[in-house]
Amino acid sequence: MSAGQPGQPYVYTRRELVEPDWRRLPGFAGVTEAEWADAQWQRVNCAKNIRQLRGVYGDLLDDSFYADIDADQQQRATMSILLPPQMLNTMVPHEVPTTSAMLADPVRRYMLPVFSDRATDWPSHPYATRDSLHEHEMWTAEGLTHRYPTKVLAELLPTCPQYCGHCTRMDLVGNSTPQVSKLKFELKPVDRQAAMLDYLRRNPGVRDVVVSGGDVANMPFKNLEVFLDGLLELDSIRDIRLATKALMGMPQHWLKPDVVEGMARLAATAQRRGVSLAIHTHVNAAQQVTPLVAQAAKTMLEVGVRDVRNQGVLLKGVNTTSEALLDLCFALADEASILPYYFYMCDMIPNAEHWRISVAQAQDLQHSIMGYLPGFATPRIVCDVPYVGKRWVHQLAEYDRERGISYWTKNYRAGLEARQPGAAAQDDLDRRYEYYDPIQSLPASGQQWWARHTAADHARAMQDGHDRAAASAAAAEALIS
Ligand code: SF4
Repeated sequence: MSAGQPGQPYVYTRRELVEPDWRRLPGFAGVTEAEWADAQWQRVNCAKNIRQLRGVYGDLLDDSFYADIDADQQQRATMSILLPPQMLNTMVPHEVPTTSAMLADPVRRYMLPVFSDRATDWPSHPYATRDSLHEHEMWTAEGLTHRYPTKVLAELLPTCPQYCGHCTRMDLVGNSTPQVSKLKFELKPVDRQAAMLDYLRRNPGVRDVVVSGGDVANMPFKNLEVFLDGLLELDSIRDIRLATKALMGMPQHWLKPDVVEGMARLAATAQRRGVSLAIHTHVNAAQQVTPLVAQAAKTMLEVGVRDVRNQGVLLKGVNTTSEALLDLCFALADEASILPYYFYMCDMIPNAEHWRISVAQAQDLQHSIMGYLPGFATPRIVCDVPYVGKRWVHQLAEYDRERGISYWTKNYRAGLEARQPGAAAQDDLDRRYEYYDPIQSLPASGQQWWARHTAADHARAMQDGHDRAAASAAAAEALIS
């Protein structure tokens, strides 16, 4: 550790990464270095339920903690439990966990939610929706969201090696929970991928593909390579970004010899063709950046991946202080060669209000982290506005702070909108789109307004959403058929 300069609101201190000792957890006490480094061992030993969590923690945690998890799974959870040993080992990382330490831990707060974490007065915002970004409405082939003019999101699969409690794609990703039946893909993976490639072939204006899911680490590598080779054959594609939280949650996957060799092949092809092949990961807390994570990121860079970038999510109780964000950014940039790229505001999915912060708080956070990191490594804090897309949090057009409603505009049409008749498409550019702060963050007068207006406003929003969804679905059908 090296000391920083005192007298600043944030004091930079370089901290050496340390892999937490998994042997402090009773269930992993006898696990060898070789087993820990083995991706297959990590997958087999994931915790998927309370019985398996008890197997890891033994008698360290009170029954009340497990009852709290169980109540959450039954009544609130939008994601099921799936925690690789590597992820569990980053909770309460350098001491023997106790119930109170686990309850206070930032990684536990978002990867293993408990019922008592959730807000009681407004657990969900009245306008929260399952597919809060309306990605499904913008599918131009199954799993292919064309929201921006020149880029698409390709959801190749609906699973991940780990499930995050706040997952934006809770509509599609993961196993159903008692509260949420997941949407299912209908096409076989090979047909879905063929349809995506076909769309991209017919639409050379798309130059950038985010290859996601789910998490591409759950795709057999040879299948992922076939799809990526297909993308690399298209002259129009100039940027490919692979989305994988597993770089942090299961770095062992990205260190497997077959994966390293395969990525070297793909990176060589990408370089030959002048395509930027990058990895985007998702780390939300500095304690999750361990030597194994750094090794996985650096290995990907060594084999020729152009960049490894982090897209975190702002989550209250996890990282919504300037100190937590800067500690994370410095750990990523200095120790793991991962570029801090974005922090997203948590999307408006059901039961997420205890994690969300207001746009005003996000603006304050952006201000507070400026000037410490190099400009290129200073993350932008963005709001993913429904039907608009990412906007820097200072880009809003108008803001009603009392009711927590921000208004945003857009300067492009989604892929489908661009094909709609002129007048309808023009309306989209003239329109203002709304985003809502968590009601708990509002002054008393704003909270009272929501208590009075919820039912009527909810009905109006549902009708608006229904109308837009119907128009979008009709346009998609016309295009696909
Ligand atoms: S890794 Fe990404 S897609 Fe998977 S559960 Fe977490 S947030 Fe969702």
